[in-house]
Amino acid sequence: MVDGKDCFCKGEGNVRIIYACAGASNVGQLSNDVAVELTRRGEGRMGCLVGLAANVSTMVQNAKAADSLLVIDGCGVACARKVLEGKGLIPDSMILTEMGVDKDYDLTAGKDRVHQLATKVTDGLDKSINIITPGKGCGF
Ligand code: SF4
Repeated sequence: MVDGKDCFCKGEGNVRIIYACAGASNVGQLSNDVAVELTRRGEGRMGCLVGLAANVSTMVQNAKAADSLLVIDGCGVACARKVLEGKGLIPDSMILTEMGVDKDYDLTAGKDRVHQLATKVTDGLDKSINIITPGKGCGF
């Protein structure tokens, strides 16, 4: 179990950690908004990309122990995915500019598209995985 803690579900399900690049552009900020929305929907729980990049040991351990890793990058530079790949981790990868969002540097642009983008990301996920999250009874 993540962090070595016990939980109510006793591990009957899979842990998905969601990382967002949260970059300094509209799509970077949208990646974080989409990750928040996916967490709210119970598709997984967010992980701290910067903590992972900084080699915080528990965060690296959690990423390596997860059953599923999802990365949402704002654009094709794919910074978040590269952080994980640099640690030998192969995540599912979603890139918002490939979903019809043009990149610009208005940090608040496109907020009205978060719900739609979260649904597009969800549609691309493996539905056979039974994800456990705190909201679904897992106390990890
Ligand atoms: S993936 Fe694109 S938007 Fe995200 S941090 Fe990298 S360059 Fe910025």
